[in-house]
Amino acid sequence: MSTADQRTKRKVTLIPGDGIGPEVIAATCRVIEAVGAPIEWEPAEAGASVFRKGIATGVPDDTIASIRRNRLVLKGPLETPVGYGEKSANVTLRVLFELYANIRPARELPGVPTLFSARGVDLVVVRENVEDLYAGVEHMQTPGVAQCLKLMSRKGCEKIVRLAFELAVAEGRKCVHCATKANIMKMTEGLLKRTFEDVAREYPQIRAEHIIIDNCAHQLVRFPEQFEVIVTSNMNGDILSDLTSGLVGGLGFAPSANIGNEVVMFEAVHGSAPNIAGKNVANPTALILSAAMMLRHMGEFAAGATIENAVLFTLERGEARTADVGGERVASTTTEFTDAVIRNLGRRPSRFAAREHHPLKLPSVARDPVLVRPKSRKVVGADVFIESGLDPVSLGKSLERLVEGTGMALASCANRGVKVYPLPSDLVDCVDHYRCRFVMKEALAASPGRAAGASLADGPEMLDANLAAVLHRIGAEHRWMHVEKLQVIDGAEAFSKAQGEG
Ligand code: NAP
Repeated sequence: MSTADQRTKRKVTLIPGDGIGPEVIAATCRVIEAVGAPIEWEPAEAGASVFRKGIATGVPDDTIASIRRNRLVLKGPLETPVGYGEKSANVTLRVLFELYANIRPARELPGVPTLFSARGVDLVVVRENVEDLYAGVEHMQTPGVAQCLKLMSRKGCEKIVRLAFELAVAEGRKCVHCATKANIMKMTEGLLKRTFEDVAREYPQIRAEHIIIDNCAHQLVRFPEQFEVIVTSNMNGDILSDLTSGLVGGLGFAPSANIGNEVVMFEAVHGSAPNIAGKNVANPTALILSAAMMLRHMGEFAAGATIENAVLFTLERGEARTADVGGERVASTTTEFTDAVIRNLGRRPSRFAAREHHPLKLPSVARDPVLVRPKSRKVVGADVFIESGLDPVSLGKSLERLVEGTGMALASCANRGVKVYPLPSDLVDCVDHYRCRFVMKEALAASPGRAAGASLADGPEMLDANLAAVLHRIGAEHRWMHVEKLQVIDGAEAFSKAQGEG
């Protein structure tokens, strides 16, 4: 009787996926079987075949039920066939099960030559996985102007930042970088930076560094060895983690974990690679290493380390290598490489052995949707987004005339974030999409400087009735498509100023 038979087996939902998915999944299952891990697979479907059956999400109810039951998933890549549904099945799985963290390690591999070989690259990108621009809330605001909402929450930031610090603790790492664009997007990316600074105080043993995302990309290709853990927002993390995969040999070597507090899903970073599907040439390393991450998550640390060391040993010896490693040697097939890994279970590479892992403590963040309760807040005005082909001065004067008698006044008009009225700049190449800021008339009268953007925090409150009157008047002559109230929260303006607004 094998070790696995003596322990209770854990059921894992197994999604083979599309393209090279079934091949790399089969290879990975063979390795897991050979190491004797206590797993019982529950096969489930998702991806292209499901879209083709007319299920618009790409994920059937049976699969959702299996994941709900097992809470643990090993997944092959899923293709979103063109012309079937709008949303990717991958994104559906991430958001449906609140898989809020995407963990993508990138570590130099022996026997896989890259431009960065011998530099000691050994880092993890912790990417926020469900918020930000990837929430996919988009609108054509005018026929020629598109908008995508960048939604970030304190709760989402806390979860991802805490997880990054906990990962550093679990892996014995000394430093966490937070990469943001907080210098430009002070509300959204700034929220991640501020949360990082707050949470960092709870982990005094770990060095916490903020870095601007573009500099982070620059530093990653110049001195990648300086990074250990990088926590970042969804889109930034998507881009950075493909870059870090490239540092260590490419997509065939990049594993990942999608972590939620209820469900966890492990998968390779790569997609279905249709060009090499069905040829038995795909590199299964990324998925095999993802499975090692899964075993550690299950508490099977020894099995995880055995698999990782066997992969490292196989690569170091060059006993078998798939075509994507490059070089002169005849490439191994997927099966040959997998056979070699199985043969080498129990062996350790001379360098680069698997690092020691400890259990990862998942952060506990309150389920209450309201995480931030300010002491005070008031509404001091509104931004009305207007579609107009008029020049800024004609539009500004028209709006000033229209809102007379409503109790409100036009403070400014901006075009793609640049103030163009009053005091327009003839250098701005305007489009038919204006953000027109209205505040209470007394606020503007009390301080003429307000028109130039001085603080509205002390200004009078705007009532819905004021706003309704303004919208009614504007709508008589212009097409408005969106309204945003201007709030002052705990005495601070909770909205951005346009460039040039002071
Ligand atoms: P991709 O499938 O990752 O493939 C890009 C290229 O990378 C392949 O053509 C192949 O290059 C190489 N490659 C990737 N994985 C490899 C492996 N295991 N072994 C050897 N070479 C590998 O990216 P894509 O072509 O942009 O996407 C194809 C489909 O996958 C799309 O429908 C996309 O939406 C989906 N996708 C799914 C996931 C996911 O399920 N998580 C992620 C990304 C993309 P060569 O030309 O060198 O052979």
